[in-house]
Amino acid sequence: MSDTGNAAARDTDAPLLSVEGLSKTYSSGRRLADRLTGRAEIRVQAVKEVSFSIRRGEIMGLIGESGCGKSTLGRTILRLHEPTAGRVIFDGADVTALSDDQMKAMRRRMQIIFQDPYASLNPRRTVEEIVGLPLRLHGLASGREDLRAKTAAIVEKVGLKSAHLDRYPHQFSGGQRQRIGIARALVSHPEFIVCDEPVSALDVSIQAQIIQLLTELKQEMGLTYLFISHDISVIGYLSDRVAVMYLGEIVELGSAEAVLSNPRHPYTQSLMSAVPEVDRPGHRNRVRLSGDLPSPIAPPPGCRFHTRCPLAIDICRREAPKVETVGPGHTAACHRLHENLSLLEEEEPA
Ligand code: SF4
Repeated sequence: MSDTGNAAARDTDAPLLSVEGLSKTYSSGRRLADRLTGRAEIRVQAVKEVSFSIRRGEIMGLIGESGCGKSTLGRTILRLHEPTAGRVIFDGADVTALSDDQMKAMRRRMQIIFQDPYASLNPRRTVEEIVGLPLRLHGLASGREDLRAKTAAIVEKVGLKSAHLDRYPHQFSGGQRQRIGIARALVSHPEFIVCDEPVSALDVSIQAQIIQLLTELKQEMGLTYLFISHDISVIGYLSDRVAVMYLGEIVELGSAEAVLSNPRHPYTQSLMSAVPEVDRPGHRNRVRLSGDLPSPIAPPPGCRFHTRCPLAIDICRREAPKVETVGPGHTAACHRLHENLSLLEEEEPA
């Protein structure tokens, strides 16, 4: 990296990660599709033409209900799942075009913290073996002692003790196991982390501790997060910017302040209506969406949200809305944006 002032300014301004038209479609085998549906193939479009960027040091919150494609998006960015279309640019390099060897080297810089600390740790390995594996894979430790010292250092940084190195995952609580998962993700000193619902499987009191830990580690280690959650309170607390996902598409994106205080998409408004507002004299009508998230095997035509949207009109059933700018750095995709309709009417207190 150049050491000139101008280059430094460019580096700070440039996004660390850009996602450009990223799509992920899964196809079933012929035999399974034929048995289940009589069709030659079942195609599941889990992520559709998603674009956004994340600046270095930023936390991008990704919110949406279960099954909307959030985790698939996170994993496709890291090429844990291969994209069907689109590109991922990380620090100037096209991740989607890297060879297997180049991708292996890139994984040191791009890591993931998984949702389920119970399932993501090998029960037959000690903490030292689990956390030290990335050091071994990337040749980042020179010998047994160095590996143990580096593993002990990161284990202590996440709030465990070096005495824990020889224990097995079943000897820890849920919160401690998630700390082990965080240590494994951070031991190779990555720059970018996909935090895939890292607190969803934990008790509420433990959630707060893990969120605090992730916030401190971000500052201390200069990290950039894509933070995935279905909990808008968690997303609102942590995020600099927020992307709202519905059935594989980003329907609204902007600063956390803009999206959460002035949500423009009816789906975002429905998510916001579920947040209790204890400080306000009135409270928001709870918007109850009818039905479940449609299947990504047969997504609705037009606007994918039209089957559940209280504001849907004819055009919504025929045409997909375009992404429009609704404020500085704030975009949304809805045919009725210019009517300034809102599902968030205030109710008078009883
Ligand atoms: Fe609702 Fe129509 Fe807007 Fe989609 S385009 S969110 S169906 S109003």
